[in-house]
Amino acid sequence: MKGIGPAVALALAAAITAPAAGQTATYETSDDIRRVLVPPVDREHMPALVITGATLLDGRGGAPVADAVIVMRGDRIFAAGPTASIPVPADVARTVDARGLYVMPGLIDLHLHVTSQRGDDFGRYPDSDAAAAIRATVLAASAIKAGITAIRDPATIGDVALRMKEAVQRGIVVGPRILWSGAMIATTGGHGDEITGTATGRFKPDVPNSRTVTANGPWEWRQAVRSQVRRQVDWVKVSAPFEREEIAAAVDEAHREGLRVAIDSFGEYSEWAVAAGVDSLEHTLDMSDATVTLMAKHKTGFVPTLTAFRNLLTRGYPPAGIPAGAFYYTFSRRYPIDFQANLRHVRDAYKAGVRIGVGTDIPFENERLYPASYHEELGYLHEAGLSNKDVLASATRIGADILGMGDKLGTIEAGKIADLIVLGGNPEQDLSALKDVRYVVAGGKVAVSPD
Ligand SMILES: [Zn+2]
Repeated sequence: MKGIGPAVALALAAAITAPAAGQTATYETSDDIRRVLVPPVDREHMPALVITGATLLDGRGGAPVADAVIVMRGDRIFAAGPTASIPVPADVARTVDARGLYVMPGLIDLHLHVTSQRGDDFGRYPDSDAAAAIRATVLAASAIKAGITAIRDPATIGDVALRMKEAVQRGIVVGPRILWSGAMIATTGGHGDEITGTATGRFKPDVPNSRTVTANGPWEWRQAVRSQVRRQVDWVKVSAPFEREEIAAAVDEAHREGLRVAIDSFGEYSEWAVAAGVDSLEHTLDMSDATVTLMAKHKTGFVPTLTAFRNLLTRGYPPAGIPAGAFYYTFSRRYPIDFQANLRHVRDAYKAGVRIGVGTDIPFENERLYPASYHEELGYLHEAGLSNKDVLASATRIGADILGMGDKLGTIEAGKIADLIVLGGNPEQDLSALKDVRYVVAGGKVAVSPD
């Protein structure tokens, strides 16, 4: 096969030597954080998907490459670069003529609950796992159409996010690849285990809440992490409040398993969590300047979900009769929202070198606000001081890095998963070009196209 060197072949199927047998064994690892070994896939003989003529923004930080070619086989990128240096193979199954268009890595949303949108008239209908799965399917479709090819689900109803992850992997549903975190770990009465709902401030129905698991004391926090590991989660999601020993135990337990920890936090708990080594801090309330300094020191990822706060301030939650301005009637959210302070924290974090990821959350109305809220979030990051190019990096390479998938996602280069989008305009010049998605390739398959 042309256009692929031995180094790329190695990246596609890592070869190891088994010393005991003296034989070479090959394997790959699963395309999530769990990295279980899977049998190698022979992609060399799979028919090629080729994109020609586009301007390539490969996401690695360099200048755009005019008149580029991207060769993909199976779910991987085999080669990408200027037409002059990348030969087009003979066995092409499909060619996308992208002259005049722009190609960049697929977008990543680090904070999207696939089950949380309920609809304006939700009060009339009971919720169930099946209803949540239907909603997740609709949300997955709207995400992929917008070029969002990977999401992290930070707490789901039942096992809906896992089953969606599998359905996408198996090609049953067209949607973004999903890294999921099972149920959120909270202390009794903590965020997620309050007797009133965060979104509505109303008393929850007296039924088990599958989105949250409670734990009290370090050993229970370890056990709660283990129970999520058993469910095959990629990430562990925790919420404040907690004791220092509890968060330290959870982070240690997750890291021992190679998993990462995201936290929904507020006040001093954010500082404790960062010091304990959590991997990403989500939309923290009542955040101190010291937290930003600590994040820089501990290399914590930051997913500010500015849009979620903005929606709360400006829209409220009309279907539930909640006026704009704050989280009302909820104890763990009893902090005023200061949007300017939120922007300032992002600006300070950016200046301090903290990796900033894109997440939307929009827990109330995401069936209606998605994917517009994703674009809105990018606009706020720009407002906070990130250049267009850095906003795009947050949405791709940095997002992949925070996700623990930096070796497989986030840039367009040989050996990586073929998740990319073709746009009508240059997003480095104008972020609104991201609203003009012409093609989406997810896992090497054309998921969205004009025809
Ligand atoms: Zn959330």
